[in-house]
Amino acid sequence: MPDDRRSLPERDRGLLWHPYAPLAGPAPYAVEAANGIRLALRAPDGRGFEAIDAMSSWWCMVHGYRNPALDRAVFDQMTRFSHVMFGGLTHEPAVQLAERLRRITPEPLQHVFLADSGSISVEVALKVAIQYQSARGLPERQNFLAFRGGYHGDTFAAMGVSDPVGGMHAEFPGQLAGNVFAPRPPAAMLTAGRLVGDDAALAEWAEEVAVLVARNASRLAGIIVEPVLQGAGGMHIYDPRCLRVLRELADAEGLLLMFDEIATGFGRTGKLFAAEWSSEPVPDSAVSAGAAGPAAAAAVVPDVLCVGKALTGGYLSLAAMLCSAEVAGVISGSRFGALMHGPTFMANPLACAAANASLELLESGDWAGRVAGIQSGLTEGLQAAASLPGVRTVRSLGAVGVVELHQPVDVPAATEAGLAQGVWLRPFRNLVYAMPPYLCSVGDTVEIAAGMVAAAGRVGGP
Ligand SMILES: *Cc1c(COP(=O)(O)O)cnc(C)c1O
Repeated sequence: MPDDRRSLPERDRGLLWHPYAPLAGPAPYAVEAANGIRLALRAPDGRGFEAIDAMSSWWCMVHGYRNPALDRAVFDQMTRFSHVMFGGLTHEPAVQLAERLRRITPEPLQHVFLADSGSISVEVALKVAIQYQSARGLPERQNFLAFRGGYHGDTFAAMGVSDPVGGMHAEFPGQLAGNVFAPRPPAAMLTAGRLVGDDAALAEWAEEVAVLVARNASRLAGIIVEPVLQGAGGMHIYDPRCLRVLRELADAEGLLLMFDEIATGFGRTGKLFAAEWSSEPVPDSAVSAGAAGPAAAAAVVPDVLCVGKALTGGYLSLAAMLCSAEVAGVISGSRFGALMHGPTFMANPLACAAANASLELLESGDWAGRVAGIQSGLTEGLQAAASLPGVRTVRSLGAVGVVELHQPVDVPAATEAGLAQGVWLRPFRNLVYAMPPYLCSVGDTVEIAAGMVAAAGRVGGP
C-alpha cells in the first residue's frame, strides 16, 4: 500500500503525462464521482466542485455517466466474456454493431473495420486508400489531400494529414512529409436551419482546390476531411457545399473521398452525420471548377467513413472504418486480398456491447430534438459573450457552441471561472467551447453558456 497522504492531484503531478501538457504543469482536478451530466471534482487545493461536464469527456459521453442501459450492456457482456481475439473468431456484439453501422450510414458504405481508437481508424482508412490505388496499378499514389486546420488524430499518419502547424509537422520532419494541404474551407453560418456560406468565397476556394488536385493527382491516393465542422483544429464551421466540390474532384481523378466523422458523427452537429448538411440546395452560380450542379438533393457520400468518440457513448475506446463495396472489391482482388491491419483489441466485445447500447439509445430516443434544444440554449446563452471585450466571434451548430477570442485563453483561470459557475470546460488556444451531453436540458444549457461567458472573460496576457 502506498504510504501517501498527499492528494491525488499531487501524486499525479510529475508522474503521469497528460494530453499535450508538461509533466510538472498545473496539477489536474481529481474526479471523485460522475453521474448523468455531472462530475464531482476535487481541486488540487482540496476544494470540491460539482460541475456539468460541458465537454462530454472530449465529445464522446453523449448519454451521460452511469447510464443504466450502457452500464447494463457492458456488465452483461462482462459476464459472458470481456475479450477474445478477432483473428479466426467472431462474436455477437461485433456482428450486431457492424450490421447497425451499415444500416444507419449511407447505402454505399457496406463493410466495417472495428479499430481500437479514432486515430487507428484513420490509419486504417489511409491504408485502404493506398492499397486501393496500388491494386489498381497506381502504387505511386501514396499521399493525401487534406485541409489546413484539420485534425485526424495523434498517430503519425493521422498527424501527417492534420494541420501542418497544429500537427507540429516541423517537430517530426522525418515522419510527416508529402501530403498536400488545401486552404481552410470558407465559413458558413447557421441561418434559419440552413448552413449558409458565401458564394464568391466558395467559388474562389473551389478554384484553388481544383488546381491543387490537378497538380498533384498522380501521387494522391485520396482526400481526407472532417465534414462541415473542423474540431480540434479550431472548431471551424464551414460551407457544406465544399464537400460536393471534393466529391467531384475525387471522382474526376480517381481519388478516394474519406470523411472523418469521429467528432461529428451520431448527431453532434444536428444531423446524424455531418455530411448530411451537404444536401442543402446549391445555387447554379455558386460553384466553379466544374463542381456541383443545380439545386442538388442527395447528401455527398464518401468512399470511406471513420467514426469513433460517441460510438460507445463514451464508455470504452472504439472506432470504425466503413468503406464502399467498390473499394472493398478492389482490395479483395489485390495481391494480399486483405486489408492489412489487425490490432490486438480489434472489435473488443465490451466496447462493441457499449456501442450497441449507445446506438440503440440514439435510435429509440429523440436525439434530434435534444440536440436542437441544446443548440437553441447555447445560441441564446452565448449572445452575452458576443459583446464581451476580447471576443472575436460566437458560433454554434447542433450541440456545439464556440466563443472565439482574440487572444489565447488563460486555461487555469478560465477553468476556475467555469467551475465557479458549476461548469467543467477545457478551452484550447483562443477557443472556449462546449460540446455537452445530449442529456442536457435547455436549463442545463443556459448554465453551460453562463460558464462559457465567465471563462471567456479570462484571456491570457498579451
Ligand atoms: C478525436 C479525433 C480523432 C482521434 O481519435 P482518438 O480516439 O483520439 O484517437 C480523429 N479525428 C477527429 C476528427 C477527432 O475529433
